Amino acid sequence: MNDLPGILVVLSGPSGVGKTTVAERLIEKGGYVRSISVTTRECRPKEDGRMEVDGVDYHFISMEEFERLRDGDELVEYARVHGEWYGTPKQPLREALRAHEAYLLVIDVHGGGQIRGHGLNSLMVFLAPPDLNELRRRLEGRKTESEEQQTMRLQRVDMEMKKASEIYNHIVVNKDLGTCVEEVHALVLEARRKLKEKQDAGETLYPGLGLNS
Ligand code: 5GP
Repeated sequence: MNDLPGILVVLSGPSGVGKTTVAERLIEKGGYVRSISVTTRECRPKEDGRMEVDGVDYHFISMEEFERLRDGDELVEYARVHGEWYGTPKQPLREALRAHEAYLLVIDVHGGGQIRGHGLNSLMVFLAPPDLNELRRRLEGRKTESEEQQTMRLQRVDMEMKKASEIYNHIVVNKDLGTCVEEVHALVLEARRKLKEKQDAGETLYPGLGLNS
């Protein structure tokens, strides 16, 4: 895969649709690296009960630190989700693209909109649930969040489904995990081949990211 250019892959979808699991499966295939976001939210237990790890799941930072990164133009996108701030650091993204990796951004739809707006030749994939009611039931059953947090997540689902068709190139239904992962992987491969053609034709793939600096 490494003779193909690096690519920015945005993976979004409603809470509980399985974005993290899909990202993990792609990483197991090799050639994929996941962006570690910064966030102002507190570290919490994951669905398997283990605690999140700073620097692995997220970089857990203060609001002051977040503002410093944002105002210093060190985040390629950022958004407030469920009352907390999240953002994607630029530097690791530059390094991954230079190293011809597929760089996975598991981010919300507002962040996805910003990436799209940057015109970065990114692949935008929205993961949709096969059944919205089933998703709601799953979210309600989550033990890791307060009732208030669960309500916020449920209210967001409708807005996200609407944004999906406006911003994303592809909507992939996560009915069967294995099939979903293969579908996303095939889209990534196809997008990278197209990028290679553009690159061979002399196009700058990631203008504004300072990849040559
Ligand atoms: P959680 O708190 O459940 O880990 O994530 C909440 C939401 O924030 C998810 O939809 C997740 O994809 C999104 N998110 C995580 N990191 C980022 C980021 O760096 N930027 C944006 N825009 N959203 C993010």
